[in-house]
Amino acid sequence: MMEFSDRVTSVEPSATLAVSNLASELEADGVDVVDLSVGEPDFDTPENIVEAGKAAMDAGHTGYAPSNGVPELRDAIAEKLQGDGLGYEADNVIVTPGAKQALYETFQTVVGPSGRGTSSRAGDEVVLLDPAWVSYEAMAKLAGGELNRVDLAPHDFQLEPALDDLAEAVSDDTELLVVNSPSNPTGAVYSRAAMEGVRDLAVDHDVTVISDEIYQHINYGPEHVSLAGLDGMFERTVTVNGFSKAYSMTGWRLGYLAAPEEIVSQAGKVQSHSVSSAANFVQRAGVEAIQHTDDAIDEMVDAFESRRDLLVDLFAEHGKDVSTPDGAFYLMLPVADDDQEWCQEALKDAHVATVPGSAFGAPGYARLSYAASTERLEEAVERLVDAGYL
Ligand code: PMP
Ligand code: GLU
Repeated sequence: MMEFSDRVTSVEPSATLAVSNLASELEADGVDVVDLSVGEPDFDTPENIVEAGKAAMDAGHTGYAPSNGVPELRDAIAEKLQGDGLGYEADNVIVTPGAKQALYETFQTVVGPSGRGTSSRAGDEVVLLDPAWVSYEAMAKLAGGELNRVDLAPHDFQLEPALDDLAEAVSDDTELLVVNSPSNPTGAVYSRAAMEGVRDLAVDHDVTVISDEIYQHINYGPEHVSLAGLDGMFERTVTVNGFSKAYSMTGWRLGYLAAPEEIVSQAGKVQSHSVSSAANFVQRAGVEAIQHTDDAIDEMVDAFESRRDLLVDLFAEHGKDVSTPDGAFYLMLPVADDDQEWCQEALKDAHVATVPGSAFGAPGYARLSYAASTERLEEAVERLVDAGYL
């Protein structure tokens, strides 16, 4: 019998990818599944980006790239972040194969197996805002950390009304706090007052904060607040962003982190000893994406917004009131106490794939990704109604 490390046996496979794999298997057997599981835009990558990728290959950019990223893309990312009012230079940026890798490197850099301060915890304390994207928990555990979770579900998934709860959770023992706005899985966009509340706690207790802004551009109205721009936060924030969602580039695997140089020099070691770098020609396409793709983003975001409206209206017609998300392309549908069973049965009977809320720390809900055509969304609701799930 083989023995595996406690690190790896302590985590489950990604629930989002697991449901999506199951849906793909059913499809391979000829079943027509409406797949609302994985968070992946249904648009092709904009043509100008594809062309830039091909041109980069033709120009011979097929060898190893500098580990932290090609200078052209690090510069372009720094310029974008400066445009957002954040004081990052190219040296503050690590280009990664997907935002997931940027997050993984940050957890490996900041979180360790021996707890800080007076904590009786075995590992460094990581505070998550529930519901939270599935991989934060796994990344914390893989780094040897221990979780402390604050539940936003009773506050309509908003952070501002939960600041007292957050203040209870964050202490001098806390090493890392993860904030993701717009949020996966709820679509909530946190207010400036909420972010300032996070800032006050982080500064008071000397906590490092990950600000995962991968859904920054998929926002239907509220102000987007970047934590690194708040007083006292630049030096303790790791800003994570990527190309998968805004530019519909999930398969290209391109993302980045921006952080103070002392964090970059540590996290860069993880990158250089693991993936080496993001793919060279993909990074060149990233320059084109970041500099010349505003119109395509606007079109995609408009489409997501009308799909959100459609879905919220359809659920209301069937007596289900859902919190209207302000960003990302996810919606939390209240289902049954046993959300895992609900999702499994809905996939089996109605051939509609969704992810159980409990995978995100939100039992009783199913997460739906509405990055699908209006026809497929209508079809999904019809199937759920016909099979008695709504
Ligand atoms: N953060 C969040 C909140 C996400 O939903 C995702 C989805 N994949 C990621 C990070 C990672 O994205 P990627 O690795 O495709 O850039
Ligand atoms: N982030 C997306 C999701 O939550 C993509 C899958 C993943 O990486 O988890 O569905």
